[in-house]
Amino acid sequence: MQKHRIIVSAALLFICTAVLSAQDKLEISVVRDGRPEKTVELHLLKKMGYLQARDVADIFGAGISYDADSKELVLKWGEPASPVEVKFVIGSEYVVIDGIKRKMMKSPRIIEGHSYIPLEAVITRAFEAVVGAQVHWSYDKRALSISYKGNISDVRAYTYDSYTRVVVELTQDLEYEYGEKDRTVTVKIKNGVFTVPFEDISIADGVVESVAIAASGEGAVFSIGLQDDAGEVKVMKYPSPVRVVIDIEKKIKEAVQEKKEALPPVPAGPLKKGKMELKDIKLIVIDPGHGGKDPGAIGPRGTREKDITLSIAEKVARKIKKDLKIRTILTRTHDYFVPLSERIGMANSKNADIFISIHTNAAMNPKSNGFEVYFLSGDASDREAEAVANMENSVMAMEESSAGTTRLSKILWSLTMNQFMNESSELCSFMDKCVIRKTGLVDRGVKQAGFYVMKGARMPAVLVEVAFLSNKKEEKLLNSDSFQEGVADAVTRAVSDYKRWLTQNE
Ligand SMILES: [Zn+2]
Repeated sequence: MQKHRIIVSAALLFICTAVLSAQDKLEISVVRDGRPEKTVELHLLKKMGYLQARDVADIFGAGISYDADSKELVLKWGEPASPVEVKFVIGSEYVVIDGIKRKMMKSPRIIEGHSYIPLEAVITRAFEAVVGAQVHWSYDKRALSISYKGNISDVRAYTYDSYTRVVVELTQDLEYEYGEKDRTVTVKIKNGVFTVPFEDISIADGVVESVAIAASGEGAVFSIGLQDDAGEVKVMKYPSPVRVVIDIEKKIKEAVQEKKEALPPVPAGPLKKGKMELKDIKLIVIDPGHGGKDPGAIGPRGTREKDITLSIAEKVARKIKKDLKIRTILTRTHDYFVPLSERIGMANSKNADIFISIHTNAAMNPKSNGFEVYFLSGDASDREAEAVANMENSVMAMEESSAGTTRLSKILWSLTMNQFMNESSELCSFMDKCVIRKTGLVDRGVKQAGFYVMKGARMPAVLVEVAFLSNKKEEKLLNSDSFQEGVADAVTRAVSDYKRWLTQNE
């Protein structure tokens, strides 16, 4: 699979600003709903971009406060009695956005007496949700675009072995029509307004020639030109984030057809109305980390991670079944070895709606403690996250087959995963909130890392590191039945909150 278009992500931002290391200031324009409004300075420091906190407050209409003692820098919106806040701490890579702790690549800092915020913080989905706008950074245009009216946030295309997929991502639920005529599939999104100007996408993979993107009086129009290998065309809308997905099958008999969700075919002739596919949570796969010849981490008193993860996973499965009436499957039910790729393979083949991998943490420092939860990304969000990912991935060496480890398949898998990044990140936020509230563990926050176990997941997937087995106190906790029950309660609660969030977003 190849991805033909990438959205500006923090990683790309890093690459872009890296080109400019010679300069330390860059004048950028602030564009609001398509109109250039003013210019502000972007500070470049160690290849990363920073905006002055005062400018960020101005641009997004926020109140701002700074406490020199706690070094807390707070942006505030709404009524003083119930404000929505984004809390930074100078020198800390953690930011709390509307109550949820997130990790940035860089920390806010003081430069020449003024406080600065990493640009990456304002282009996250969480920040966009707080300000109620789409925020887009373009290095090429040296522009920070803010769109309050736009509702089409991204258009991208992927080539898979057996089909080509075009995804149009929306920020609100909009009606759409679609149909096929003269080898062109037309999808019209009513009242669709682009958050930033999107360019046509050229694909030419034998299935799709290109996607022409245009605005009409009634909305946005996507014209997908088909090529010789194009087979059946299917189109559907999914929630959270709302997106219209157009799949064009590849007409090759010997190609192994991937199992896909059944989508209604595209009608020939005039455009027909599309509808939303309600994605209910019917099956959750719970993955007790490690097992068999792979014990995972081992605590100072000899507790083995594989035993704790199985015990917690069993409790989680039981509670989800009982409280939420959702079917659960464990990737292993006893102490045996299951290769990492088989764990997610199980979830994929059974069309699971959520994948939860359960682990316990370990660190060189015996004092390290707390709860953290991860979702998968191409790059680890920090050095520590990378270390955790490496530790969990090290079991790869124990697996006989290394077929899945080629560079190419790694890239393919990370791209597949990207489609569920938003859902996974949201599920992580609920896990973090619920587990911290229930257990009182130290909150290490939501992180991203490249976990092998979650790669290739065709559903939202998270990995929880419940507590530190390498910490004597937490080792004792992890062995306690009531603590394990508490964690299971919290995870169940998080799934229930996530389910509610999904339906609210429809
Ligand atoms: Zn583990």
